[in-house]
Amino acid sequence: MTDIVIATNNDGKMAEFEEMRHVLADSHPALRQLRFVSQRQWSVPSPVEDDDTFRGNALIKARHTAARTGHPAIGDDSGLVVDALDGRPGIYSSRFAGEDATDAENNARLVEELAEHPDAPRTARFVCALAFVRDADDPRPTVVEGAWEGEVLDAPRGERGFGYDPLFFSPEHGMSVGEMDPDEKHRVSHRARALKILIERLAEIDLAHAS
Ligand code: IMP
Repeated sequence: MTDIVIATNNDGKMAEFEEMRHVLADSHPALRQLRFVSQRQWSVPSPVEDDDTFRGNALIKARHTAARTGHPAIGDDSGLVVDALDGRPGIYSSRFAGEDATDAENNARLVEELAEHPDAPRTARFVCALAFVRDADDPRPTVVEGAWEGEVLDAPRGERGFGYDPLFFSPEHGMSVGEMDPDEKHRVSHRARALKILIERLAEIDLAHAS
């Protein structure tokens, strides 16, 4: 078993990683050799995310957590990219309505901004970058990205998930992510797509030895 610390203080995200590990283990057996550990037990403060890409911020989080825990770490940076808003909220998704905004406030802001563009297409995608480092100074980090295409609704639907899930409609499923069975989300989401790619790449790396 290899312990990998997940670089997040967001309980919703941490729960998703653990659930994805179970849901994806049949198709990706290497996941059974990994144990995902929350960084909460080390009380890691959030780093300054000052890159302007999902990938760059995921790597900042991974290095920061590896430095403070002494363990290999996975950093996750994700968000919603909306075409009608020229890609916003993007890397600013968690603070779209302000520094400590709640999910409900961010969702309300998104509905308000889109209402100003009634004729624009509602196309959008969730994006997730994952960065893995063996230690804080790892010169060969593994950084991957997954995306999930969909449309933004004019009003929230469903109570499941977190963040923008009630506003994100998956045409393939004919429902919002807020209405979706969580196991299905964990099979097809941006985070699941990125995790599958990461696990395939990590299978080529000897996790036990430093670079
Ligand atoms: P981060 O913690 O800086 O990566 O912020 C990610 C933000 O993007 C979250 O706070 C949510 O607002 C949004 N987000 C990312 N992934 C999801 C998802 O799976 N569902 C809904 N919202 C998400």
